[in-house]
Amino acid sequence: MGSDNDARELIIQIVHELFSAGHLTSTGGNVSNRSSDGETIWITPSALYKGGLTADSLVRIRPDGSVVEGSNQPSIEYRMHFRAYDARPGSLGAVHTHSPVATAFGICNQKFEPINTDAVALADTQTVPWFMPGTAELADAVFDAMKTSRGAILQNHGLMAVGEDLRHAATRAAMIEETARIALYVKQFGGEVSLLTDDAVERLGSITEFL
Ligand SMILES: [Zn+2]
Repeated sequence: MGSDNDARELIIQIVHELFSAGHLTSTGGNVSNRSSDGETIWITPSALYKGGLTADSLVRIRPDGSVVEGSNQPSIEYRMHFRAYDARPGSLGAVHTHSPVATAFGICNQKFEPINTDAVALADTQTVPWFMPGTAELADAVFDAMKTSRGAILQNHGLMAVGEDLRHAATRAAMIEETARIALYVKQFGGEVSLLTDDAVERLGSITEFL
């Protein structure tokens, strides 16, 4: 694991990337990285404009939400981040986004069918029913979903992803959004849908483990 300064710089870089790509809204969504002590996490603050965050805006918190470093209030979704790390031991970074196409995909109870390689990798992505943001109920539901897959769609809300590092987590979030977008285009074209064969899906299995 890198230093706390590296972790904070990476969070800011990922926030700006996700914000530019429309995954984070002005105040919606949050990003965290485990700190060097292995117990606490660095997380984005609550209710500040995501486009203007700097490393000094971030807060380091314990699992109960108490602040160890930083002067802002932590994101209200801190429970969901800690529970996602609990579900996937070894994960160092987590993102919660309000990615619009993935959100609509979840609202419409869609599942990833084998339309391409990424969709095969995402086939076990769970959809978490709506719970009030910031609650332990939502965090527990995310924990359950992430036992199966390191990305989960949160119905009527957004998505959550973790990774072996923060870049990996952000890539999974982007992959869910982009694949949901292709699934949307497929529905819009509305012609005969050509899915990958079972044999192709099986052969892709060994590749998709690394995505
Ligand atoms: Zn949210």
